[in-house]
Amino acid sequence: MALIDNHGRQINYLRLAVTDRCNLRCNYCMPSEGIDFVKNDKLLSISELEKVSKILVGLGIDKIRITGGEPFVRKDLMVLLRSLSQTEGLNDISVTTNATLIGPHIDSLKEMGIKNINVSLDSINRETFERITRRKQFDTVHNNLIRLITEGFNVRINFIVLDGQNEQDIIPILDVMKHHNVSVRFLEEMPFNGGSKNFSTIKWNYKAILEHIGKTYPDFEKLESPKTSTSINYRIKGHQGTFGIIPSFSRTFCGSCNRLRVTATGDVITCLYGKPKANLREIVREHSSSEKVEEAIITAIGNRAKTGFDAQKEHDSTVFDNSMTSIGG
Ligand code: SAM
Ligand code: SF4
Repeated sequence: MALIDNHGRQINYLRLAVTDRCNLRCNYCMPSEGIDFVKNDKLLSISELEKVSKILVGLGIDKIRITGGEPFVRKDLMVLLRSLSQTEGLNDISVTTNATLIGPHIDSLKEMGIKNINVSLDSINRETFERITRRKQFDTVHNNLIRLITEGFNVRINFIVLDGQNEQDIIPILDVMKHHNVSVRFLEEMPFNGGSKNFSTIKWNYKAILEHIGKTYPDFEKLESPKTSTSINYRIKGHQGTFGIIPSFSRTFCGSCNRLRVTATGDVITCLYGKPKANLREIVREHSSSEKVEEAIITAIGNRAKTGFDAQKEHDSTVFDNSMTSIGG
């Protein structure tokens, strides 16, 4: 079975948010006081998340990324991961995390065969990190990151380039990671920050980021990337790791988008920039068979916007007041 959208794109990748809660307050993601986190009974339970995931795998999803909020604030996360790791047809499970709480779970993740971990780290300088995240977790994140790398996880670092905040760390993070087999991916900032900031252009777009890197490291080569990759990837001569740039604001990758998002409350999102297309929570609660969930997913995928710019038109105003902690990135 394959899920094909109304523009002929195959959807095989689910980004599943398991919570909207987070223990950090990154200033590009939410205001300092946080957002209105949803009530517990509005969040899918672990068995509901498991059920939705399995139905989607049955429909043709073979890759799931667990995200949030911070996935590891959910106490029962490992129960879900263990179940997913035993799901036939699911070839790739990965987790996106701020790496503050992952430490005690590293051995179990390894034992389950979950090796792809994306760590969000927007600075290698303590003060800058604390200013951006509004929390004092630098040492924990740093130690967990080093542990993940040395234990052989396939680690990717997500670094959002924020005007006036962390551009001075772009080159240093490449220097620090030069001896490690890690991919550092620089992301354009998107306007999903819980309404704390609105913008229609950004200074640090992918061209500016690449130009900046080229001034210090002119000797980089472009790498072949999978067709559905959102990052354009490069290798600097002499560096063990690679770097990538994700044009998340410029949206140059929509033509090959293979993603579906399900939020922690069960909303089905077919494009990050659009509105939710269905909600699965009441459906899974009311129906024990998988049919109604399948119907809702198939209908949503049959009505996908062609590009993120088209999807954005679904909103009445140009101001986004939602936060990435609800959508999952
Ligand atoms: N808490 C986890 C973390 O930070 O890795 C997972 C959830 S977080 C919402 C997922 C990804 O979205 C992170 O890599 C984060 O940096 C990114 N993100 C959050 N807000 C963003 C924004 N306004 N623009 C671009 N990326 C953003
Ligand atoms: Fe939390 Fe991740 Fe948002 Fe930062 S980006 S506040 S770590 S959900």
